[in-house]
Amino acid sequence: MMNNLKINEVWFLTGSQHLYGEEALNKVAEHAEIIAKSLDNSDQIPVTIIFKPVLTTPEEIYHTCQAANQAKNCIGLITWMHTFSPAKMWINGLKILQKPLLHLHTQYNRDIPWSSIDMDFMNLNQSAHGDREFGFMVSRLRINRKVVVGHWEDIVVHKEIEGWARAASGWHDWQGAKFVRFGDNMRFVAVTEGDKVEAEMKFGFSVNTYGVGDLVQVINAISDEAIQGLLKEYEESYELAPELKSEGPKRSSLVEAARIELGLEKFLTEGGFKGFTDTFEDLHGMKQLPGIAVQRLMKKGFGFAGEGDWKTAALVRAMKVMGTGLPGGNAFMEDYTYHFDPENTLVLGSHMLEVDESLADGRISCEVHPLGIGGKEDPVRLVFNAKGGKGLNASLVDMGNRFRIVVNEVEAYPPIKDLPKLPVARVMWKPLPDMKTGCAAWILAGGAHHTCFSQNISSDTLRDFANMAGVEAMIIDGNSTIHQIQNELRWNEIYWHSKIQL
Ligand code: MN
Repeated sequence: MMNNLKINEVWFLTGSQHLYGEEALNKVAEHAEIIAKSLDNSDQIPVTIIFKPVLTTPEEIYHTCQAANQAKNCIGLITWMHTFSPAKMWINGLKILQKPLLHLHTQYNRDIPWSSIDMDFMNLNQSAHGDREFGFMVSRLRINRKVVVGHWEDIVVHKEIEGWARAASGWHDWQGAKFVRFGDNMRFVAVTEGDKVEAEMKFGFSVNTYGVGDLVQVINAISDEAIQGLLKEYEESYELAPELKSEGPKRSSLVEAARIELGLEKFLTEGGFKGFTDTFEDLHGMKQLPGIAVQRLMKKGFGFAGEGDWKTAALVRAMKVMGTGLPGGNAFMEDYTYHFDPENTLVLGSHMLEVDESLADGRISCEVHPLGIGGKEDPVRLVFNAKGGKGLNASLVDMGNRFRIVVNEVEAYPPIKDLPKLPVARVMWKPLPDMKTGCAAWILAGGAHHTCFSQNISSDTLRDFANMAGVEAMIIDGNSTIHQIQNELRWNEIYWHSKIQL
């Protein structure tokens, strides 16, 4: 995965018309280019913003939208009407547009130039009404878009564009992405099921199964030399438990773990996969359930979720892309157990092995312990605590007639006490608005036990993402009440049955 998003282009389109004459149109172009360049240079905005010539005819608009659809690195469009751009000119372009749209409702000047303002100024600086004409057309066409309001130099405007650009980057990454499942999902589990055909139609990624034997073949062909190299990396990166050290009694488990990691990475890389799932119920030919391998591959950017949960694996990948370059991580997570102390209620989040190394804060130990299920040899895993701070959990569920993204903002904490006997990585959090409401709302919304836990993506970004995908977003935040969530769920039920969806 890339370590920045600069390869992703957002095209900056400015609408106008011929009515104003060449002099005014030159001014429009000059201003638009200044704005586009300033956004491109903003430290806040992680993608490349590309200025495009001012659009004044339906044909130009149509061809630009057509080109945007075709451009490999174009992840979306920003539109702005410096002057009045009669919006029927936009109909045919917008009708074919397949990339996400952000309507920037700004104007070139921040302040009204009180002493010099005259009708020439008024004729040139018409965004306040020009953007409304455009907005009507996009609404009339029922096209999803983000509207950002404010002066283009305002840092809040940059942050809003950033959030949307991150969502668009995740969305772009999904188009044509391939995810591999080794085995099916965990027997009898409901929420990890879903319609993979519908997912590919809606989201653009495909999910296909490979027999675990295909993976085992690759794992078994890994050379001893490569394994030795990786063992060295383990030794340099982690605090190895004594039994895993070179003369330790469980050294063979670490050798096996390294073999699995190298095999998995080879399989994924050669197959062009952006993520994967496995299941402890289908490990024929493997000696242990992949633990450290999965943890490290997630850190490298692969999406993953356990027990065949392909929807969460895909979501983890998309959120990793959205969080590119930001401090903190986006990681496969599970609400594991609760601390119901009325003075300080908390959720302990973890998984049986596969907690993403990108969450690690401080010391990481590499340990081997029995798993208790699956009947395989003891798997090696990395054990660590995660950082506290603002975060969220996100889940993608299949409601039968539609997909729903459920998001709950949280305040995260490192474990409040030592957990000397817990052999897995972990993090704690307090759901917003509070434990009772947050958990009840999540359950009412059908959110899964598997999530992507994020330390750096906002719920606004995930709302933008859901809008790009055209799926339902249920956001549970500091202002949520059960009454409101329940009503929203009921109303959404009707909305998502209607013929027109935004
Ligand atoms: Mn699980």
